[in-house]
Amino acid sequence: MDIKSLMEKFKNREISVEENTKNVLEKIKKNEFNHYITISEDAIERAKELDKKLEDNQQLGKLFGICVTLKDNISTKGLKTTCGSKMLENFEPVYNATVVENLLKEDAIIVAKTNMDEFAMGSSSETSYFGAVNNPLDTKRIPGGSSSGSAVSVAANDVLISLGTDTGGSVRQPASYCNIVGYYPTYSLISRYGVVSMANTLDQVALFANNVEDIIKTSQVVSSCDPKDMTSIKNEYEFSIENYDFNDKKIAVIKNLDIYDVEDVVKEDYYRAIEELKNFGCIIEEIEFKYVKYANAIYNVVMSSEASSNLSRFDGIRYGYQAENYDSIEDLFIKTRSEGFGEEVQRRIALGTMYLSASDGQKVYKQGLKLRKLLKDELRNLFNDFDLILTPTTTDLPYEIGSRNDDALSVYDSGIFNVIVNLATLCAISVPVRRGLSGSVQFIANAFDDNNLLNAARSFERSIR
Ligand code: GLN
Repeated sequence: MDIKSLMEKFKNREISVEENTKNVLEKIKKNEFNHYITISEDAIERAKELDKKLEDNQQLGKLFGICVTLKDNISTKGLKTTCGSKMLENFEPVYNATVVENLLKEDAIIVAKTNMDEFAMGSSSETSYFGAVNNPLDTKRIPGGSSSGSAVSVAANDVLISLGTDTGGSVRQPASYCNIVGYYPTYSLISRYGVVSMANTLDQVALFANNVEDIIKTSQVVSSCDPKDMTSIKNEYEFSIENYDFNDKKIAVIKNLDIYDVEDVVKEDYYRAIEELKNFGCIIEEIEFKYVKYANAIYNVVMSSEASSNLSRFDGIRYGYQAENYDSIEDLFIKTRSEGFGEEVQRRIALGTMYLSASDGQKVYKQGLKLRKLLKDELRNLFNDFDLILTPTTTDLPYEIGSRNDDALSVYDSGIFNVIVNLATLCAISVPVRRGLSGSVQFIANAFDDNNLLNAARSFERSIR
């Protein structure tokens, strides 16, 4: 099923929006993979209103009747937005994020908020206060993260589209682990207003679907110029479905894959994709990156520094959880933050605070920014010669839940090809190469070349499956 066919069914009265929404909610309520935190109470009411709209022959929105799930760090008015944390366990925003308004304007239905790594920090769902999410392809395994529940809600066929956020791979990596499509748009194409910040120069709302065409359709709706987000685009961006001709397109691939510790299966799927692109007539050239190997270190410094500053607002006074017994304001801050945040969040706040501390002139942070610039220049310059860069999405396949609890570093490392995109402010999409647990590939394009990126991915997907 895809957006177009489902909307056709509504229009031809083969199924009502209400009936469809009921079916979706029934699946969601089972919460088979622990992928949901909160279910929307008024989805059925809204579905009825939409059916009425159809009956009255009114103009229908671009996502008419389509059920959508949202990662639980995207604010929904009157509907809990927990960020997967005890800190916001009972937090109900008083307004909708701009992306939510955009979805509603085009007649989508928000059905549920999805489980996630706490404050989007993690790659597995294991840092969620609400417990880990299971991968539908193999329930012993992680689904990836941090937008874990969103990926699973699409992979388990509950909904056709879900919104997550991606700061360093949090949509592309779970998309790959769950064998669906995940798109990270160029920074600024989608408003971040009402989306809880993790690392604000890297964060973007990002999309999951079963196919690229649905990603394009959803992008048309969620992308907007937003005066409420000063970093958002100033002119509308055009997303359209077009035929992408791979013939004579130049694609950069990785020469020395071995230094990145890529699992064999993932490597094989990567080479399979490259062969396919050659068959399409692409010109493939192997590139040896200079700065990519430092990407995880750079990401760690920039991300933790920004996160420590963004999360300072959770102090027990302004939002969320408040410790019960305290002797002074300082004691309140300390107790609230020690009790409200989990271990991974505390680790990153501690690291970021250290990187930003004035006592050594913020040496590490500044070094991180310099290296970020070098990496950015290296990758961006490649687009003078190439149309696209192709990498594996992740370096490995999903591991078993709980098996890496003592190995935080190896978990960070598997996202190396994702973080480079956020750090260099590019756009990228992860597309499966074959069905089942397997490696996906990531196409990367220059900033604002999103429409070509998506249409290339669409052509690739159609021929490889
Ligand atoms: N795995 C990365 C991290 O834990 C990704 C986070 C993200 O994109 N939100 O930092």
